[in-house]
Amino acid sequence: MKPPAAPAPSAPSAPFPDDALPAGAVVEGDRLEADCEDAYDYVVVGSGAGGAVAAHVLATSGASVAIVEEGPWVHTRDFGERVYDAFRVLFRDAGMQVIEGRSYIPILQGRCVGGSTVVNSAIAHRTPEDVLDDWAGMDLGGGLGGVVTAKTLEPHFDALERELSAHAVSDDALGDNDRRFLDEATMHGLLGRRTRRYEHGCRGSGRCFTGCPNAAKQGMSVTYVPWSLALGARIYTSCRVERVVIEGGRATGVLARAAGAPGRGERVIKLHARHGVVVAASAVQTPNLLRRSGLRARALGEHFQCHPGYGLGALFDDAVRASAAGAGRMGATQGAEITSLRRTDRVKFETLALQPELAAVRMPGVGHDWMRRFDRYASFAQWAMVLRAEAEGTVRSAWGGGDKVRWTPSPVDMDRAVKGVARLARMMFEAGAREVWPGLHGVPTAIRSVDEVSAIERMPREPRAFSFLSTHLFGGARMGTDPRASVVGTDFQTHEAARLYVVDSSVFPTNLGVNPQHSIMAMSRLAATRIVAGGRARNRAA
Ligand SMILES: Cc1cc2nc3c(=O)[nH]c(=O)nc-3n(C[C@H](O)[C@H](O)[C@H](O)COP(=O)(O)OP(=O)(O)OC[C@H]3O[C@@H](n4cnc5c(N)ncnc54)[C@H](O)[C@@H]3O)c2cc1C
Ligand code: SF4
Repeated sequence: MKPPAAPAPSAPSAPFPDDALPAGAVVEGDRLEADCEDAYDYVVVGSGAGGAVAAHVLATSGASVAIVEEGPWVHTRDFGERVYDAFRVLFRDAGMQVIEGRSYIPILQGRCVGGSTVVNSAIAHRTPEDVLDDWAGMDLGGGLGGVVTAKTLEPHFDALERELSAHAVSDDALGDNDRRFLDEATMHGLLGRRTRRYEHGCRGSGRCFTGCPNAAKQGMSVTYVPWSLALGARIYTSCRVERVVIEGGRATGVLARAAGAPGRGERVIKLHARHGVVVAASAVQTPNLLRRSGLRARALGEHFQCHPGYGLGALFDDAVRASAAGAGRMGATQGAEITSLRRTDRVKFETLALQPELAAVRMPGVGHDWMRRFDRYASFAQWAMVLRAEAEGTVRSAWGGGDKVRWTPSPVDMDRAVKGVARLARMMFEAGAREVWPGLHGVPTAIRSVDEVSAIERMPREPRAFSFLSTHLFGGARMGTDPRASVVGTDFQTHEAARLYVVDSSVFPTNLGVNPQHSIMAMSRLAATRIVAGGRARNRAA
């Protein structure tokens, strides 16, 4: 008897999840020939951590969903190595956005399909329970007690960790810099650990900030966005939502604009939302979008918080960037961290693997002096401090439709920042650094021994002496039950307009002290699950 014929080999599956998308699922605003109008059950504004997760839950429930994203879709195949190109295409204002205050602090945000998850390090932290307890007890008209708790968030964290493959950095992706940092943490009795990240097959290329070339990082443009499209959702890319349309006290759609096909002029996109508009444009853009849409809550744009970050460079004798995976590999962009100082000192320490262009700006000196240091790039290491600052600021609209963020660290924040950086510098010397580069005004450019760290401790607590950077942003449309003290209710709807939901970190009453993406996604998943349940209840009652 003849053996049964072997099945015909199936076509090789697309290597990247953003290669093959359902026909008609992507409407590119910069190719639109004409204005367009359409209707969906839900319109989601923003395709980053908050928006993509909500869209996926809504699409899974069988609802028709449109996602509107201001930035373009840059596909995995198009991620290059050049930092300048990546910043120009993937980041808002090419990475030139700043917080204004006593000093200027750059804010980095992704502006592309997937939002900041395309350019971030994919570190996953559950919301600390003490933070949730604080929120429950805050004077926001009853706090958030009972609605956003460790228990209500738990199933959402579980699902996200499963679906996005959150796990500790593997041996292969752990850089030598990370190992040194972990050894040092152990010596100091600090809780050092490999970072837990959303990744599947990370090769330790250290290129997370310019987009993962292997789709190993489980950012939204290779996970929840394509998964939502596979369920029938549609995404409008390069389309900026100008305002949410509110009629009769209810959100009924959005009005967006796009550049249109070359030479055809700007296009208007009107999308009607039968059941609601879900906003996830980030803690900077959401408050201003709500304001442009006519909301006037007293708390709108108030209580902005951030985690200012500070990177400390150092030169070691031997190579520190080679990972176990082999020469030329730097290790995961952020492979190790210390979280045990979060409550006492309000700081978190992390390692950073930086591409040469990014490392170069952290190297002091000019001319020959700088070249000498850059020549030793392989022995360069960067460790960073993330501060859970207490100060609050504001988010307002700027002339021309942009965003204006004002925030200044408090004297207490500055004191903690100085002590945190000094502690980190000391640890670097103890780990074998030859030179540490504080990059702080009034402190020597390069310090060469642990005794010289006292120069950092003695410096004035002056924000202008620091070159902070912030990528973790919170508040501006905070949640609470009292409309006088908050913008969004505990059902994630704004107090002023029904069916207008906010599911990003602008609703967070405070910052966290840990990286925020996981908390944003879990809150968004919780919100979207409740929106679906609310919709079903309304349908039953109708
Ligand atoms: C370099 C970097 C590294 C980071 N590393 C980590 C990390 O390792 N772990 C972690 O937890 N967090 C990290 N973060 C922070 C984390 O990525 C963000 O907190 C999170 O992505 C914010 O989610 P979001 O949905 O609020 O905003 P985003 O993810 O930024 O998405 C918002 C989206 O909305 C779009 N949008 C804005 N306005 C409009 C409009 N009017 N119309 C249409 N679309 C609009 C934007 O273009 C953007 O794509 C990092 C951030 C950066 C920049
Ligand atoms: S370190 Fe490299 S391989 Fe790993 S997730 Fe980041 S970009 Fe991808």
